[in-house]
Amino acid sequence: MTRTEKQAERARSAASRQRGKQEEDEYWASVVRLQERRAEKQAAAEKREARHAEAQAIVSKGTCPDCGAKLRRNLSLSGWWQCGRSGAPGFKSPEYEGTGDCHFQTFTA
Ligand SMILES: [Zn+2]
Repeated sequence: MTRTEKQAERARSAASRQRGKQEEDEYWASVVRLQERRAEKQAAAEKREARHAEAQAIVSKGTCPDCGAKLRRNLSLSGWWQCGRSGAPGFKSPEYEGTGDCHFQTFTA
């Protein structure tokens, strides 16, 4: 092997090691991104569960925390609860027709 051939081989070998290092770096970066996404999903799920537990506690009392009116379920969406004073005239709970509006709502699902 001539001197030039040896130099060329060393250069190829160095380039190959460099590529290997780069691939390894990219792999670990993707592992970190995946872990971050999992952690974000986990945190979001925990927040959602905490919100739902809070909503469930309110709903189990049956009254609006803002004005004390009875809560009612809105069947348009699963887990949707609204203050009996919410809604346009004709859509409020009958006992609250003609009383002030309240826009409290919460979701248990
Ligand atoms: Zn209310």
